[in-house]
Amino acid sequence: NTALNLTNRYPRVLSIAGSDSSGGAGIQADLKTFSALGCYGMTAITALTAQNTQGVRSIHSIPPQMLRDQIDAVVEDIGVDAVKIGMLHSPEVVMTVAEALDAHRLTQVVLDPVMVSANGAKLISDEAVAVVVSELFPRALVVTPNLDEAMLLLGRKLTAADELELAAEELLKQGAHAVLLKGGHLPGHDVVDILVQESVAGQLAELHRLHSLRISTHNLHGTGCTLSSAIAAYLALGFSLPDAVQAARIYVRSALDAGSHVRTGAGIGPLNH
Ligand code: PLP
Repeated sequence: NTALNLTNRYPRVLSIAGSDSSGGAGIQADLKTFSALGCYGMTAITALTAQNTQGVRSIHSIPPQMLRDQIDAVVEDIGVDAVKIGMLHSPEVVMTVAEALDAHRLTQVVLDPVMVSANGAKLISDEAVAVVVSELFPRALVVTPNLDEAMLLLGRKLTAADELELAAEELLKQGAHAVLLKGGHLPGHDVVDILVQESVAGQLAELHRLHSLRISTHNLHGTGCTLSSAIAAYLALGFSLPDAVQAARIYVRSALDAGSHVRTGAGIGPLNH
């Protein structure tokens, strides 16, 4: 594997996220991504979901202490170069993650504020949303909301691509160091994502407008998970944040493209990678 570096070690990436029994999203998507990008993947499971391509049947939260034990066990032995955070079901789980990040001084953190599944099931409690903003936004290197999550966080509708820059800046003001606002849920051939990074030492905030042509496919389940874990993998490989985001977008696009004609289940199929 090309990523094995001079220390005889693969870059180590930890996913703190939910399990998706259908294999399309959550930690299952994250591990596939880490392996494909030449990283060593580990997991701290926050919740189990029973789901398939048609919907979520039930959710079982993991007790906070068990979650903390998973994080401590891998950090203390194997070590972690970057972290991806996905589904966090309850305020207690959010607080546990915040405390663990501090205790282990983990700062290469990609936060995907997972709220609703592709087929509409709520994956986070209302009380947990505010705690994600107050406790995890400031601890993450980048936060990666999709359009629906951004609307929920901002409390207003977003209906056009030219509204995304302002929205990303408003999300940055909620306390994040950088925001990747994904505009893929807006209609149109052009998919626009906005990356905005906080201003440092008097410089203006850095803003990137990332375009790509839409790939037509039903297999969209796990897109957000895969993007955020690819960003974490590229950060672990030593990429800067803008470069990691660009490279991760290319990875997701190639997975969308490669699997666009595959049929898996009767509902919204998984990304194929
Ligand atoms: N995490 C888990 C455990 C899920 O079940 C889901 C969706 O069902 C997600 C995250 C979000 O998936 P996506 O990458 O499609 O936004």
